Amino acid sequence: MRPDILNPLFTETEALDGVGPKLKKPLEKLGLTRVRDLDYHLPERFVSRRAVGNLDEAGEGEQIVVRLTVTEHRAGRSARAPYRVLAQDMVGNILALTYFGRASFTARKQLPVGETRWVAGKLERFGDMLQIVHPDHVVEEGGDTLGQLCEPVYRLSEGLTQPKIAGLVQQALSRTLELPEWIEPRQIEKQGWPTWRDALVLAHKGEHSAARDRLAYDELLANSLALMLVRADNRKRRGQPLRGDGSYRVKLDLPFPLTGAQKRSIAEIEGDMAQESPMLRLLQGDVGAGKTVVALEAMLIAVEAGAQAAMLAPTEILARQHYESLRRMAEPTGARVALLTGRDKGKAREATLMDLLDGSIDIVVGTHAIFQDKVAYNNLAMVVIDEQHRFGVGQRLMLASKGRRAPHVLAMTATPIPRTLTLAQYGELDVSKLDELPPGRQAIETVVMGQDKIGLLVDRLAAQIAEGRQAYWVCPMVREMDGPDEIAAVEARFAALEQRFGRDVVMVHGQLAPEMKDAAMERFASGDAKLLVATTVIEVGVDVPNATLMVIEQAERFGLAQLHQLRGRVGRGSEKSVCVLVRGDTLSETARERLALMRETQDGFRLAEEDLRLRGGGELLGTRQSGDTPFTVASLEQITTLLPTAYDDARLLIERDGGLEGPRGEAARTLLYLFERDYGVKTLRGG
Ligand code: ADP
Ligand code: MG
Repeated sequence: MRPDILNPLFTETEALDGVGPKLKKPLEKLGLTRVRDLDYHLPERFVSRRAVGNLDEAGEGEQIVVRLTVTEHRAGRSARAPYRVLAQDMVGNILALTYFGRASFTARKQLPVGETRWVAGKLERFGDMLQIVHPDHVVEEGGDTLGQLCEPVYRLSEGLTQPKIAGLVQQALSRTLELPEWIEPRQIEKQGWPTWRDALVLAHKGEHSAARDRLAYDELLANSLALMLVRADNRKRRGQPLRGDGSYRVKLDLPFPLTGAQKRSIAEIEGDMAQESPMLRLLQGDVGAGKTVVALEAMLIAVEAGAQAAMLAPTEILARQHYESLRRMAEPTGARVALLTGRDKGKAREATLMDLLDGSIDIVVGTHAIFQDKVAYNNLAMVVIDEQHRFGVGQRLMLASKGRRAPHVLAMTATPIPRTLTLAQYGELDVSKLDELPPGRQAIETVVMGQDKIGLLVDRLAAQIAEGRQAYWVCPMVREMDGPDEIAAVEARFAALEQRFGRDVVMVHGQLAPEMKDAAMERFASGDAKLLVATTVIEVGVDVPNATLMVIEQAERFGLAQLHQLRGRVGRGSEKSVCVLVRGDTLSETARERLALMRETQDGFRLAEEDLRLRGGGELLGTRQSGDTPFTVASLEQITTLLPTAYDDARLLIERDGGLEGPRGEAARTLLYLFERDYGVKTLRGG
């Protein structure tokens, strides 16, 4: 149960003055539903304005406050045209205050002709005219003062304005009372950090780095504590010790010897699975390192011990591909492998469910459908999660502690995560590393070329295809889900390439009907189709060794880690592979550096570190790349500098206070609830 002291913070925003159904929506869009969310809606940046006597004293692009007299209103010729209010400063310079859309109604009210107003905003030039577009403030003389000359700028959504959200944040802060301190007193003293509430207030007031750091530290501490508690809980749980006799594994007939790294990882996994406390291990290996075989060996250990194993894949495509390769590899062992996804319906599904229940299926591969309530197992004792970074941390950990006898969990990732982020994402999860690629792999040649060379590129592609090779062509996708722009880009490219290559081209993107996606993937995987045009849905896992060319359009729009993942789709066979990064005409300095790095190295870990560095450096105050880290307050830079200490602090707290007893322990529980990492606390109660 959440401590009562936090109730005011978890009050819905509707309880605030001025928040009704109309304002609720834009707030929700920003993820702001409770007082606490507003407290933590930290400014993206601050503007400092300069009060000027007249416009001659101000520079273009400068944020100013100036006293103006309104001379004229000019409505636009059409509804779309801007509404302009002309005004004069004290020495007769004319300025236009420009409004678009509905904002003109406000302008009419606020700026009657002949009146004098204080106006704050950014001075710009439009043609030969000075203007301020949508002034931040318009204030009557003698009315409210313009307040601070340094003002927070918040992330907005449609329907919100800066003054409105600033007002709500202030209301939220005024309802926010001090909480008991959870940080080690010496740490506070050493860093010169303010108390929690003071830190919030300061962080909204100006660029107080101590305040921001403290707030970030809180989040990092909460995360560390939660991970540790779940981990400790997992250690106490009883799983099923699984000891295989090798009877299945010995029948495996692999066309290659395992690498040293694969053997080592399998041994580590085998050691874990033999224990009664459930395994919680991360298998980290770059693309193409051969994680699937390791997973298969691990699952066969479970089968040998008379139990069932499941493999969870993040997408339908991957689930199918894993199913195919696992079934093929497992065939000589006699283990029965089945596929179960959300798409299976009717009789076939019923049959699979029956077979899972009576234990005649040994290994099931699927999407999250395999963990739905209706799916019952005979004796599920081992779970492999592929590319688990797509699943939430909490979800992942809860899975591990599900059921009375917790299954052994092996999480596999091809995303080389920098060490600091590993700590953040997984805490002290046991890690097996495949740091050795299977032999015979050739380096992938990486070239960067301009958009104008696409014609040449298509000729080169034609030559590849004529030699019987296959290729990928990736069009940009900016978000998790394919949006309309991306679909347009991929469809246009597909149409153009289809003109030249006809039936040899197939297309896959997130908005195709599942059957069409499968059909396209199958034609490509079987070698029937030679060219796959796609968005990044192919990013993870897809394995077609005959594909030797990877084209990535508008490569500058991708992150390094993502480019690396994509590039890893080729270079899987023994033939030489090429990755072509097609870039746009204008590149930022960071984008240029990123592409250069791609050319320079193929080491996923190095790229991940560099990615972190490049983004960390360019990161604006308060802007987050969502999805990368489990944090909303702490920036990449703060994670790097503060996480190790937060982690140690969490450990001391748990070890010394024996599971969060005592006053500081109590405060730390409050912290866990504040950051909604209370799954950690729940394990305390249960244990
Ligand atoms: P990933 O780690 O990216 O999941 P996969 O398991 O898909 O890698 O393996 C990539 C390719 O390498 C597959 O075609 C697989 O059969 C092959 N492979 C795996 N292990 C070895 C090995 N020890 N020697 C040679 N080829 C291997
Ligand atoms: Mg894989």
